[in-house]
Amino acid sequence: MKNISTMIKSSQIGELVNSLEHFFGYSSFRGKQEEIIRHLMGGQDTVVIMPTGAGKSLCFQLPALLLEGTAIVVSPLIALMKNQVDQLVAKGINAGFLNSSLSRAEVTKVRQDVLEGEIKILYVAPETLAKAENLAFFRKINLSFIAIDEAHCISEWGHDFRPEYRKLRLVVEELGNRPIIALTATATTKVQKDIQRTLGLEEAKVFKTSFHRENLYYEVVPKLESKQKLVQFVRKRKGQSGIIYCLSRKKVEELAELLQVNGVKALPYHAGLEPTQRIRHQDAFLNEEVEVVTATIAFGMGIDKADVRYVVHYDVPKSLEGYYQETGRAGRDGNPAHCMMLFSKDDIHKFEKFNKGKSASERENVRLLLEEMSGFAESAVCRTRQLLSYFDEHTEEGCGHCDNCERESGLFPAKDSLALALNAVELSAGRLVFGELVSAICGEGHELANESIFGEGREKGKSHWEAVLRQAIIGDFIQREVEPYGILTLTETGKKFLAEPYALSFIQPLEYPEKCNEEAQAVRGAQEVCDVDQVLLSKLKALRLKVAGQRNVPEFVVFQDDSLEAMCRYFPTTNDALVQIHGVGAGKARKFGKPFIELVKAYVEENEILVEDLQAMVCTQPTKSKNKVFVIRQIDNKVDFEEIAESLEMDLPKLIEEVEHICFAGTKLDIAYYADSLLDEEPQEEIYQYFLESDTDCIEEALEEFDGEYSEEELRVMRLKFFAEQAM
Ligand code: ADP
Ligand code: ZN
Repeated sequence: MKNISTMIKSSQIGELVNSLEHFFGYSSFRGKQEEIIRHLMGGQDTVVIMPTGAGKSLCFQLPALLLEGTAIVVSPLIALMKNQVDQLVAKGINAGFLNSSLSRAEVTKVRQDVLEGEIKILYVAPETLAKAENLAFFRKINLSFIAIDEAHCISEWGHDFRPEYRKLRLVVEELGNRPIIALTATATTKVQKDIQRTLGLEEAKVFKTSFHRENLYYEVVPKLESKQKLVQFVRKRKGQSGIIYCLSRKKVEELAELLQVNGVKALPYHAGLEPTQRIRHQDAFLNEEVEVVTATIAFGMGIDKADVRYVVHYDVPKSLEGYYQETGRAGRDGNPAHCMMLFSKDDIHKFEKFNKGKSASERENVRLLLEEMSGFAESAVCRTRQLLSYFDEHTEEGCGHCDNCERESGLFPAKDSLALALNAVELSAGRLVFGELVSAICGEGHELANESIFGEGREKGKSHWEAVLRQAIIGDFIQREVEPYGILTLTETGKKFLAEPYALSFIQPLEYPEKCNEEAQAVRGAQEVCDVDQVLLSKLKALRLKVAGQRNVPEFVVFQDDSLEAMCRYFPTTNDALVQIHGVGAGKARKFGKPFIELVKAYVEENEILVEDLQAMVCTQPTKSKNKVFVIRQIDNKVDFEEIAESLEMDLPKLIEEVEHICFAGTKLDIAYYADSLLDEEPQEEIYQYFLESDTDCIEEALEEFDGEYSEEELRVMRLKFFAEQAM
């Protein structure tokens, strides 16, 4: 970078914009960028708290280019470092990185470049920075400043705590008193204080901008028939990019499969995948080869995809903070994006159970975070107001872009309740947290047991008092203290209200199911429960007639009525989905499936508006019974039916019934050996010909036709043979 030194000289006050233009091609600074850059370049410690997408990177990248020496950028995003550096290099900016993925030779080269002043911005993983040999190296070089990106990783109260970050203070001290800039999109006062304390930045100037994301629509829905809800939601947004977060790897895999089966291009992403595979899936998402990634929270931090149009939380996130960060990955381009969370109290209870093995204080932390989370979900107060209040930003009005703003919520007069609650807070004298206050008001526990308010609110019930206290926090009547965390105290507004209460209304909380249920009604229950799409059915029947004609076989050989009806419930639009349909095995799908899939696909797309009204469209894997596997094995080994029946302790007709089940459900069985043992060639041919010409596979009719010539078992076995040969 030849012109660096001239840039430095010309970067006197007023010239900053020129270098912005020169290096990044932007014509002006955004928000507080310029202020921050000047502060840092003045050699002063700086803390930057701005939401995702606000443009934090520029706050250290531009100064790094303008100041003499090399800037170190500490970042936890090891997997993305190369990517970030490549992007800078593509802009003509000399950047490099050091982390554990580099070979010895590569490390030497990077160090050489730094020593020669070739690298202006050096990304370093925290654990790499802390290594003694690296520290020794960094002490030798000319450092312009140290930037700590994703600085919330320092705090256990953040959503992404990294123990390595704890050591940074020591490292920074080792390297001497360079200015430090710490950046994060995490805005709670608690985390901010943790960052400042851990890094010794108590005196640093804090630059914070609003966390309001005006283009995000927030919605929380009950976690009932959740798989169906998910599929419907995603289908409606065909062609758009989205992220589905859930908690376990297993669920990540399961949901990716579910979406694939339902015709959505989706891939899983979690820490259990091979690194190369993880990168492939991430790239597929970035390059829009797939629409959806189902992921654990490990996915998305720092990924540069500005047009994510939706984020779904299939499971409740562990904290409101995490929820805000994860939803924040939607709509970074500023265009509208949708954030949907599926909520049930069951998920919260699950976390609580998980939590059993931890220390008392850790347990209490988790409990408080979860309490905030369920409070957010269950409250009918504007979601944005709630989120912002969590970040200590208080707003009076609803945002107009969330489900609660659109809902007609019930109100209740809150003057007396609020006065009672605030009174309790005052009496607690800065000792009690949310749950303890609710208990005291309802007359439980021993806190405030001697006070007038104890048990005063018993009749109204706990959920009423939870709603009152939550809205008292959002309305800035009371505040959560940072140390010790979660203690409630009165604010000025609260004190004024207590001195002179006035009439006001609060919003009734929402109701959510205790238990979640994933399956759609129709999948869970009998198939009859759910309506068959009659229009599609008639189209499918017409297609079947045509195909049967072309192939010169009876219609039932192509697909049985049962299967067509199932298609009208589950709408299989891929081969994978089709083989899940009752009566359709891989062979049959290969032989006849294609035009049927195409028909269903066209139908689903054409009638997109109807999709939400259609009942179960979700396919689930049918489970194989123990008998089934046994029977299939025995038949593969050409064991006589009588013998199989005996070992299963059933009679022959029962076994044949079982084999029919297996066969009609789509598994191809070769039973010719058994037919041969029952009947000679000639009668076999006669029965076979009958089924080929008949327009039904009904056994009663066959019995009538042959008028006692063959037994029911013989006919059934021949029908099975016919089926296996013709229809699969
Ligand atoms: P953050 O780190 O805060 O999430 P980024 O640094 O990734 O945000 O910036 C978000 C987007 O905004 C990037 O695409 C970046 O290039 C762009 N950007 C940053 N500053 C400016 C600016 N002053 N003018 C125009 N675009 C900007
Ligand atoms: Zn709102």
